[in-house]
Amino acid sequence: MIQHRLLIRQVRKHLGPDAEIPPAWQALLQAVGASYEQFDADRRLMDCVTQVGSDELMTANECLRRQNEINQVLLERLQAVARSLKPVDNESSADAVDDLLELADALGGLVRQRKEAEDTLRFARDAAQAANQAKSDFLANMSHEIRTPMNAIIGFTSLLLEEHLKPEAKDFAETIGRSADSLLTIINDILDFATIESGHITLKESPFELRQCLEQVMDLVAGRCAEKGIEFAVVVEPDVPAVINADSTRLRQVLVNLVNNAVKFTHRGGVTVTVSALAAAERLALRFSVEDTGIGISPEGVERLFKAFSQVDSSMTRKYGGTGLGLAISRPLVELMGGSLRVISELGRGSRFEFSIHLSRAPDETAPPASVWRGAHPVLLVDAHPLSRRALAYQLRSYGASVVEAESVAQAQERLSALGSLDVAIVDAQMAEVEELAAIAPHLVHLVARTDRLPSPGAASIERLSRPVKPRELEALLRRLQSSVPDAAPAVPAAKAGLDVGFAACHPLEILVVEDNPVNTKVLVAVLKRLGYRCDTAGNGREALECLARRTYDLIVMDLQMPEMDGFEATRELRKTVSISSPPFVLAWSANVRKEDIEACFAVGMHDFLSKPARPDSLMMAIERAYHWVSSRRTVSVGGPIHG
Ligand code: ADP
Repeated sequence: MIQHRLLIRQVRKHLGPDAEIPPAWQALLQAVGASYEQFDADRRLMDCVTQVGSDELMTANECLRRQNEINQVLLERLQAVARSLKPVDNESSADAVDDLLELADALGGLVRQRKEAEDTLRFARDAAQAANQAKSDFLANMSHEIRTPMNAIIGFTSLLLEEHLKPEAKDFAETIGRSADSLLTIINDILDFATIESGHITLKESPFELRQCLEQVMDLVAGRCAEKGIEFAVVVEPDVPAVINADSTRLRQVLVNLVNNAVKFTHRGGVTVTVSALAAAERLALRFSVEDTGIGISPEGVERLFKAFSQVDSSMTRKYGGTGLGLAISRPLVELMGGSLRVISELGRGSRFEFSIHLSRAPDETAPPASVWRGAHPVLLVDAHPLSRRALAYQLRSYGASVVEAESVAQAQERLSALGSLDVAIVDAQMAEVEELAAIAPHLVHLVARTDRLPSPGAASIERLSRPVKPRELEALLRRLQSSVPDAAPAVPAAKAGLDVGFAACHPLEILVVEDNPVNTKVLVAVLKRLGYRCDTAGNGREALECLARRTYDLIVMDLQMPEMDGFEATRELRKTVSISSPPFVLAWSANVRKEDIEACFAVGMHDFLSKPARPDSLMMAIERAYHWVSSRRTVSVGGPIHG
């Protein structure tokens, strides 16, 4: 900047103190000034170059390159102007010309320095990019290496659990299964974190039922809450649309992270998830809040909270487990969904994690279920658990019911004497005096634990509602009661379907398994056998093509990395050779689960992707998709590319 002021002084000296600076000169001086300022900024940037990420380096480098070009032009103009100045008689003018030429040289020096800075920066950027790429590749490889043996562990454990085991052996097998699941979660977290960090994550938006997504989260933690004796409740406010347009997988991932933490760090009281709508018109914002009455976080802890691999108190790792990645993953995911993640917490009292997301309205958005209930009299709700009671009362009101809350049967009776008639009484089944209420309510609903599989209580008119109460189950119950038609369907959902030999009879398919790893082949063939399938196997792509030359298959489960001919080349080849009137469904089966790996499968014409290790239910779902695809092809079978 000093040099710039000097230049102005010299120009003034040359032109004379009172003369006006011509516009061309003014422009030149301004440009030189801007150039000096930029140089200062670059120097500051260079000082912190070691602390920035590759994105910033790239921007900085581009900035420098552009500025260097401008400087070069400026320098040439300055030199030209200086040379063209006609030497005037007086001595000071001659000095001014010399000074100008000197300054032009100085500016030349600056341009050289900047060129050097640009080189340094480019070098730093390339190194940072290479390091980032190496890190992502390493994580992807590591995760692949771990997934392959995990596939065998998870697969064989689920087969083992199908056997008639002694109780102790069953317990061991279940423990192996649970441990494998949690190991897989950690591997997925690490891979997710690497993907987010390298900026490769994109959202896949499509309409889905929000309540169903919340219920999946509830299913995950309901058992643990019951074990810990804490409450868990979900409240969906009435103006929240039933169907929203978002990335359901990522939304669920964030919710699962927050809810898992809340449950993990809470030992008394419970956890409440609340969803509310924030805006109307064509844009919609939803706010999700996960509130717990747990151990809370200190103000210093809150500051460290969102850093990767960090836990508020490292001694807690031993006590509570966890990698410290959940929040570091959740925050950028929420930001990608157009919102932000905040926390309000008080040590010893609990925490509230809250985030909002912005959505476009789903095309088939249905109206909120405002008037499910049209009963003339109040609904009585008797429950000693304050969180659940509040949440359930709120939800009942949002369905149009007027609610009388009580924390005990005695209190309910007291309140009822003033109220008169009742439509329905929803009562905690564990309360001793619960039967006393049967006489006063035409419909009695028992609130039971979701894990409680006892047969329904004697009276046929008694319904059951499992806690944590799922919004859609409550709605279905109210609709049943409203029309007063007794429904035989139990409120407790049926146990998850296991491996069933009848599955193949419902979804008949000729299957070829292409896999080079004998353990993986063995586990897949065994699972398929349990489902009622007999399948052929091939050890690599070339063998698969030989099998296909001999006979037709409906479904090919294709590993990707194989010796001789890999899954990609095999798929390309089979697309060229196999009859297009009866193409097989190609299901990629791989431990490479990065977005680019999956896209590469679709790019060569595979139809679906199943990650290793595959749980039997995911495999069954993939087979179902294959079956529907194949049957629709076989009925409308005319030309066209094989990929559907
Ligand atoms: P992880 O739980 O796997 O360690 P997270 O990133 O999800 O990783 O959480 C980081 C840390 O933040 C936790 O270890 C814990 O110290 C703190 N934390 C997160 N949620 C809560 C909560 N609801 N109550 C108290 N502490 C929490």
